[in-house]
Amino acid sequence: MLCVAEHFAAQRYAAETRGNAMKIIRAEFMGLCFGVRDALTIARETAAPESVSIYGELVHNPTIQGELASRGFRVVGEKHRDSTQLTNRVMVTAHGISQKRLAILSSHASEIIDTTCPLVRRVHEATQTLERENRLVILIGRRNHVEVQGIVEDLSRYIVVESPDEVIDWKEAALGIVSQSTTTPDLAQRCLARILELNSQADVRYIDTICRPTRQRQQALEALCRSVSMVIVVGGKHSNNTRQLAERCSELGCRAVQVESAQDLMEEWFAGLETVGLTAGTSTPDGTIEEVARVVSTFGCIA
Ligand code: SF4
Repeated sequence: MLCVAEHFAAQRYAAETRGNAMKIIRAEFMGLCFGVRDALTIARETAAPESVSIYGELVHNPTIQGELASRGFRVVGEKHRDSTQLTNRVMVTAHGISQKRLAILSSHASEIIDTTCPLVRRVHEATQTLERENRLVILIGRRNHVEVQGIVEDLSRYIVVESPDEVIDWKEAALGIVSQSTTTPDLAQRCLARILELNSQADVRYIDTICRPTRQRQQALEALCRSVSMVIVVGGKHSNNTRQLAERCSELGCRAVQVESAQDLMEEWFAGLETVGLTAGTSTPDGTIEEVARVVSTFGCIA
């Protein structure tokens, strides 16, 4: 009986011998963004991790979550973060939190270790600006996402819109539009167009808050989809931008298979393919991407 590694090695040898190993085309931009890398660096450099509660998932990736837990951090799930007793040092994740919640945490904790991404902060600042201008704030994003919750908790009047279908005439004199940082440019544009169409009486100000790494990964994916018929999207099941990469593939007529790690790969997906595309969400570690690429390269294209 061969172990998994021996099995893949044997397959790779067979594929290379046949001269038909799978060709992998990588997206020009993929994987960890600077915001996640910086959050991980802070976490890895934090002394005495057993005294630190991470207020939610530092990043939406099970491999990283496991690494942090094994280092001794108290990893508190997003759904339970307000019903769990926290330690006296609290780490805020890259997704950010509201000023209201920060004040509550600060009143209990001796230290707040803040890894909020600067590009998430930019969304908070944009919404505050729009509210000061007496605009109803329309936030394009996922209403259950922690980034969105952190933004809207500091607003007095807002609407979260997940798709153009949710847009109505809000009968407001002034609207301010922003997006969750990881919203796809395509979705933001479609929502904005619908808002302008149905609210023609309103003075509308749009501030583009989609982060650059998200935009780069989406554009690189679109280029990739012009060269391949199937793309492997590597990332956590709870990662918003990973899910969006997979959805965008499908919208572009390209088949997407989403995996969290190499263990999720199924060789039959690749039957008949000579090339396959590879991309990854902004919370996917380099090692996970490389392992997926290594295993896929062991699959020969089956004629
Ligand atoms: S996806 Fe964008 S906003 Fe989110 S952590 Fe990365 S760089 Fe920051």
